[in-house]
Amino acid sequence: MAPLFLSVGRGAESKPDRLPVIETIAEAVRLPQIETVQASSPEQPAPKPRIIVQPKPAVKPTVPLHVYPGNLYGIEESTVVEQTHITAVYFVPADQVGGQLPDWQENMSTTLEAIKTYMAREFSGRLTISYTTHPTVIFGDHELGTYDSLESAGKFSMYQEVTEKISWSTIQGDQRSQGRYPVLLVYYQTGFEDRYQSPDARFSTFGWLATSFIPAFQLEDGMISGERQQGLIVSAHEFAHLLGIPHPWEMDPPVEDQPWNLMGYQAHGLLMDTRIDARVKEAMGW
Ligand SMILES: [Zn+2]
Repeated sequence: MAPLFLSVGRGAESKPDRLPVIETIAEAVRLPQIETVQASSPEQPAPKPRIIVQPKPAVKPTVPLHVYPGNLYGIEESTVVEQTHITAVYFVPADQVGGQLPDWQENMSTTLEAIKTYMAREFSGRLTISYTTHPTVIFGDHELGTYDSLESAGKFSMYQEVTEKISWSTIQGDQRSQGRYPVLLVYYQTGFEDRYQSPDARFSTFGWLATSFIPAFQLEDGMISGERQQGLIVSAHEFAHLLGIPHPWEMDPPVEDQPWNLMGYQAHGLLMDTRIDARVKEAMGW
């Protein structure tokens, strides 16, 4: 059977036109609250609203932290994610050789470090992330156009090449034997400087989850260009999908997309100013 590829990214999917609204206060109070402060005098502007961190539930966890239930993306529901290991690679299609980002390694590490810090905060230290960045560029056998299509076959061939060239099955086995959940992250060279000439393409990015083959996601290298703060949010968003975490409108019950929500499409600005919905975390055993 052909591997199933799901687009779970930002921009690759369409959002439903109408989103259900939060109907009860009980639901609303469990969301991160935004504090608004009135100006004390006309001369003094009101301070910026800030997010009040929701305390962790007082109940002692009885189950290990696991993927969000519901099997939305085909990840085994019982998968424990308390220790997750990211293997990150930089992939350069055959016709993109020479156009590599000079600072890809540094920016990739910065991105992974940000995800690690963010997830440690969001899950109160119960989600520990370790990572390895593959030290050399992985060169593709084919041209960008082959991998860049929205068709599953192109995405699959990229994963197929990457996993073979880095001996993924060995990495996966090693990580599993140490009790870790192994995931793969592929940033691929796209010649993004040309691609982003169009303002419409500013946030054009795709995350792909190849669940029946490998828990992995794939992002354009513009997301680690160092000029794109948004790359941290998008990277963290795609990583969160590998924990089974859904978009707000895919939750059960669905909720409205809000700018604070990492898993919505409105999140922008600083990664640390976004949150993962407390209800999602609770469903994961937080
Ligand atoms: Zn998404």
